[in-house]
Amino acid sequence: MPVDDDYADDDYVDGNALAGELQELFAVDVTIAVGECAHCGRQAPMAETRVYTRAPGTVVRCRGCGGALLKLVTAPHARWLDLSGLARLTIRAPEAAAG
Ligand SMILES: [Zn+2]
Repeated sequence: MPVDDDYADDDYVDGNALAGELQELFAVDVTIAVGECAHCGRQAPMAETRVYTRAPGTVVRCRGCGGALLKLVTAPHARWLDLSGLARLTIRAPEAAAG
């Protein structure tokens, strides 16, 4: 699948980095869920996002427009998850995802 790469910089890791951290919050593999960007409407698997880990917390950005899809801050006593940049997250049932 061709990837829009208009938002150019190289201070990020691949969206597959979401697997470990978010798997603790979600009981599913979030990297295969399809996210819809609230900023530009792009729809793509979360594995195709850009994950910035040097911020105070984790910031996940849309590969199309660079808008923040998700922010996660972890402290010893709590986690804050901001999903305001995601218009929708589609998580298919395991049997549907396998077929
Ligand atoms: Zn976008």
